[in-house]
Amino acid sequence: MSAVGRLHEPLHRLLGTRTANALGKLELETVDDLLRHYPRRYADPGHPTDIGSLQLGEHVSVLAHVEQATVRGFAGGGGARLEAVVTDDRHRLVLTFFAKHAGALRYHEQRLKPGASGVFSGTVGEFKGRRQLTHPDYLMVGAEVDDDESALYEASRPIPIYPATASMQTWKIQRCVRTVLDTLTEDDVPDPVPAEVRARERLVSRLDALRLVHRPASSADHAQGRRRLRFEEAFVLQAALAQRRARAEAQDATARPPRTGGLRERFDAALPFTLTQGQVAVGEDLTQDLARPRPMQRLLQGEVGSGKTVVALRAMLQVVDAGGQAALLAPTEVLAAQHARTLRAMLGPLAEGGLLGGDADGTRVALLTGSLGAAARKEALLQAASGEAGIVVGTHALLGEHVQFADLGLVVVDEQHRFGVEQRDALRAKGRTAPHLLVMTATPIPRTVAMTVFGDLEVSTLTQVPAGRSGIQTVVVPAGNPRWMERTWQRVREEVDAGHRAYVVCPRIHPDEPARPAPGTPRAPAAAPADAEVDDADLLAPDDGDRPPLRAVLEVAEELRATPALARLEIEVLHGQLTPADKDAAMGRFAAGAAQVLVSTTVVEVGVDVPEATVMVVFDADRFGLSQLHQLRGRVGRGSAPGLCLLVSTAPPGSPAAARVEALAETTDGFRLAQLDLELRAEGDVLGAAQSGRTSGLRLLRVVKDADLIEDARRESAAVVAADPDLTGHPALAAAIAATLDPDQEEFLDRA
Ligand code: ADP
Ligand code: MG
Repeated sequence: MSAVGRLHEPLHRLLGTRTANALGKLELETVDDLLRHYPRRYADPGHPTDIGSLQLGEHVSVLAHVEQATVRGFAGGGGARLEAVVTDDRHRLVLTFFAKHAGALRYHEQRLKPGASGVFSGTVGEFKGRRQLTHPDYLMVGAEVDDDESALYEASRPIPIYPATASMQTWKIQRCVRTVLDTLTEDDVPDPVPAEVRARERLVSRLDALRLVHRPASSADHAQGRRRLRFEEAFVLQAALAQRRARAEAQDATARPPRTGGLRERFDAALPFTLTQGQVAVGEDLTQDLARPRPMQRLLQGEVGSGKTVVALRAMLQVVDAGGQAALLAPTEVLAAQHARTLRAMLGPLAEGGLLGGDADGTRVALLTGSLGAAARKEALLQAASGEAGIVVGTHALLGEHVQFADLGLVVVDEQHRFGVEQRDALRAKGRTAPHLLVMTATPIPRTVAMTVFGDLEVSTLTQVPAGRSGIQTVVVPAGNPRWMERTWQRVREEVDAGHRAYVVCPRIHPDEPARPAPGTPRAPAAAPADAEVDDADLLAPDDGDRPPLRAVLEVAEELRATPALARLEIEVLHGQLTPADKDAAMGRFAAGAAQVLVSTTVVEVGVDVPEATVMVVFDADRFGLSQLHQLRGRVGRGSAPGLCLLVSTAPPGSPAAARVEALAETTDGFRLAQLDLELRAEGDVLGAAQSGRTSGLRLLRVVKDADLIEDARRESAAVVAADPDLTGHPALAAAIAATLDPDQEEFLDRA
């Protein structure tokens, strides 16, 4: 059988049908599946499990040693009971077995010898104030070997504890893995990490790593094995990204060098503010990238409010100056409409090319969203196809097959985390040559996450916000305190009276709707099927026991209309279930000042820019993720007046949720908050909710903790791919990439 074949052999051939079926319940079908079923932890015979920490009702596997075992008959001859006491040397745990007569318990009695160690599995119960396991499954350490010497050796090894089921206990899995491992040779286990890389990084072979992880002789062993397997995960992923980069690099693009006296120069001259140093520096990178005949692949990440839009606009104008078109893809209709408005306003007469009174050299900004009427839509399509519109702004509607461009030169994707790579590629395919690509994200992400999630892009970063901003003050308001709540609305009133505006954000729309769609249900609301709207709050604890129900937009808006402090104010609502026209109208009235208070879902989270807004009240702030709160807060303090963010929290003082909200109140550094947010989340969430370890190929790798290892893997894999782009000399690596990166996976690579 071929090398690959051994690993893909179904388990029933090696282990028999019954065992294979039981393993099937753990979704383990092949030899490879079983070998990748890594121990969750290791029990160390020198360090028994802390029995004092066991929780009632928990299913546990406890390593302990036997203190005593006694068989007792019940008075009146009604059956027998064996009671064993096991200990970690500090606490005791009782094991109880019942039987019809004492003889049936002899088997257990013989195995549970005082002084012997074992792993005991069962559900923790309590009887007469003592912790106990009733009819536990167990395995005595060293029980499977005959001579004393091997027993002693076995007894000193760490014991792998596997994710298990009731019919397939951890030690049975251990035995199966051992059986399978014993049949394999180096040739059976192809190694995606080339030998020279292993030598440089001091890594053992894949088979050795599997042995170290599944059958360690010491804790140093399994640490070494795990490190090697983590490296492999990072290496395969980074090699895939390097290939993706190389393929994009190999495409032809049209060079779009800057033009003297063009739109961009005239735009710069008319700018009402001075660009920040960061904007200038990133602008120069983009200018150079666009002037090359290879497609730019760049990620621009920036602090909230750092002024990414103007940077993107200048790049788009450079492309228009060079005779091409630029498309700006936004995640929501609200944001697309806003971008079109902003661009037209910033460009002034430059955006009225071909119109009476417009600039002769000017261009046009077309807006294309799913909700346009037939006539407007036809007009926008025509402007894109004829090239009359140098800039086309839109939502997912831009991806439609019938949308054509005369000469698409640059694709800008705003707030990338809402887009998958397929959509990105769909737009790219609309160019005659490969268009340049600029992806913008307002969610600052730590470097290693950027490398993992956006690993095929070069990264530019804007950390500075423009001078002249007075900052944002953040205050936590206890929801249960009426005086504070009253003061909250007075502050809103004061801001409005000073000529400013207020956002009020709630986690849901209707008071009686569930907080978020069940996993797997599509997000797009009925009103605009083509455009996914983002008012699904990123709630950390949606169904949190006894907490008061989440606040809802419609309910809160009613309350505010009846709140004396807000009397005579215009209160507008905005959420994803409104028709696109209503959304636009609501946003427009708020932006223009006709409404002073906007009660909204998190649909205002990204990108919304109303400089007059100075105060934001966030209900149920303690239930949101940190990054999302930071994004939301970034909607205020965008003008010269100071911003105020009031985080209404129902978190009990001292709870982790309270601590999270406090952290937000203490810093406005998005990069620090993003790091904190990641540390507070499970690893799977970092790469997107849908990415369980099983589908992402990342089982052991920890994106946050394994930063150094990811850097090493990236460097090594880049060298391998540079020398052998198609990996013809590295079939095992090519196969590993193909296995982990089915089309769904590729999409995951480009999502944060
Ligand atoms: P973000 O990076 O969050 O997308 P925007 O591009 O929306 O930020 O910019 C935020 C606000 O700052 C906008 O009103 C924009 O006009 C303004 N702005 C951008 N650059 C500067 C600058 N250099 N000086 C002053 N204001 C600026
Ligand atoms: Mg923005």
